[in-house]
Amino acid sequence: MLSVLCPDLYVPSVREIDLSRLVARGIKGIVVDIDNTFVDWGSPDIPEKTLAFFDEARVRGLRMCVLSNNFRSRIDAICNVLGIPAARGLKPMPSAFRAALAVLGTTPGETAVIGDQVFTDVLGGNLAGIYTILVIPTSHREFITTRIVRRLERVVLGYLGRRGMLTLQTRTEAAGEDLPFRRQDADRRLGRDAY
Ligand SMILES: [Mg+2]
Repeated sequence: MLSVLCPDLYVPSVREIDLSRLVARGIKGIVVDIDNTFVDWGSPDIPEKTLAFFDEARVRGLRMCVLSNNFRSRIDAICNVLGIPAARGLKPMPSAFRAALAVLGTTPGETAVIGDQVFTDVLGGNLAGIYTILVIPTSHREFITTRIVRRLERVVLGYLGRRGMLTLQTRTEAAGEDLPFRRQDADRRLGRDAY
């Protein structure tokens, strides 16, 4: 039953997502979360790696659509810079993901969602039959309500990790590069550490 909270892929950050593999899976469109996935929560600055991700996705012919629970003014400002549309709706409601699919013009099987939260991005994506990708939040700042939900999220991820249903996958680790993420955050989320 907890499988509905389990992402199909768990990676440290968006730069660990191999877009060529997504395309090879038949993915044609991506529903993207913004805050703490591509941009630090509340920050007006869009990191270089985020711009590079969207550039590469465009080159690979992937359609993209923002789906965020943040305020409309912030979503519109970010979408303007990234040059991609937004769908309206509240995650994890199925109607929000249906709206995103309508914007993308893709079927659930042709679509992936990328986000940093289990109870919005992953749950909603799984309920919609979309390929779900979870990343470690880019910052510790977020809505107070989100911080409360994070506690439950850690319990769920820890449980899934101990059951062997969830493993953090990296590309740079295999290449022996320095890890660009907070390893201890991943360990905590997977219950490998007293927290
Ligand atoms: Mg987020």
